[in-house]
Amino acid sequence: MSNLAQVRAWIEVGLDSLRANYRAVRRAVGEGPAIIPMVKADAYGLGIARVVRSLEPFSPWGYGVATAEEGLSLRSLGVRRPVLVVSPLTREALACAAAAGLTVTISELGALEAWAEAAARHGPLDFQVEIDTGMGRAGFDWRETGTWAAPVRARCGEQLRWTGVYTHFHGADAVDPTLASTQWQRFQDAIAQLPVSREDLMVHVANSAAALRWPEYAADAVRPGIFLYGGHPVSAEVQGVPRPEPVATVRAKISLVRSVPPGSTVGYGATHVSRGWERWATLGIGYGDGLPRSLGNRGSALVHGRRAPIIGRISMDMTVVDITAVPEAAAGDVATLIGRDGDAEITVEEVALQAGTISYEILTGFTPRLARVEP
Ligand SMILES: *Cc1c(COP(=O)(O)O)cnc(C)c1O
Repeated sequence: MSNLAQVRAWIEVGLDSLRANYRAVRRAVGEGPAIIPMVKADAYGLGIARVVRSLEPFSPWGYGVATAEEGLSLRSLGVRRPVLVVSPLTREALACAAAAGLTVTISELGALEAWAEAAARHGPLDFQVEIDTGMGRAGFDWRETGTWAAPVRARCGEQLRWTGVYTHFHGADAVDPTLASTQWQRFQDAIAQLPVSREDLMVHVANSAAALRWPEYAADAVRPGIFLYGGHPVSAEVQGVPRPEPVATVRAKISLVRSVPPGSTVGYGATHVSRGWERWATLGIGYGDGLPRSLGNRGSALVHGRRAPIIGRISMDMTVVDITAVPEAAAGDVATLIGRDGDAEITVEEVALQAGTISYEILTGFTPRLARVEP
């Protein structure tokens, strides 16, 4: 923060809002279920260290990550809680996860064998089992529980502990609730066949959308991600789900202001041509910072609390906005690409919609070039 004066663009990470969102998840699911904040992809681009520091006072059960490296970085931050790795790992990554005492997810017997061998060296080690109920990217097949469950159970021992079982919804954000209820039913059918008593396994299914919509699916734990980071976890048509407080605010300074005569062009391809005299502001942010290039001629920035349309194509390092309607804007002023400025707001969902993607990709797409600061 100290050198913010010279920074051209940055992300403000609202840690109070992050904590408010965590409390909203807790309210939604009640006191029973554990909460496993998902902090993969550098806590959705906002910085794993500050996110963990902010959430530690809530004493979450543990954290969820996607890779062994992410788990290692939690350990180097001093996290002693369970760290659940939710993506399948290569043999090499499993070895690294074992050394860090992570809890990996097992989707096939070969990986369990590798984990068992690691446990013999580094044990005791924990693992959880994912059951694939339709997501298709990881997990044992729910239809074949009778085939895999017994060998998994048989491999366990003092050094190798089977501590949980989960599945992942592919459509918890969708209007149609039967996408999730179908997967829930498949999951119930599968876990009913497990040769382990229900009390000995932590059972979980819910991401943000499911945790907020259906507390009845909360089971023993929920795994919220996007909601904590200020992304609305359901599609716009789904009613009755609380909105998160926005967490990420993306700002850039105006580095140049010019008045241009009619017929002036801006950006690669000269896709915007001024009709009359216009005032243009160059912002020190571009697609090289993670601002989606697809916002060219579509998106906008807030300048002095008013909308300034993005004109022309976005460059790697610069974006031009039309500030004709904001006469007081000057070089050095701050523009807001995501977040609030006065009474105006650009939500991460709005940006995602304009860019043809989802809030997750917008948040995780901002590059290390943008300083993350805590206002
Ligand atoms: C990323 C992830 C989550 C979190 O999902 P959100 O939609 O961000 O809440 C939960 N579970 C698993 C297995 C994940 O990969």
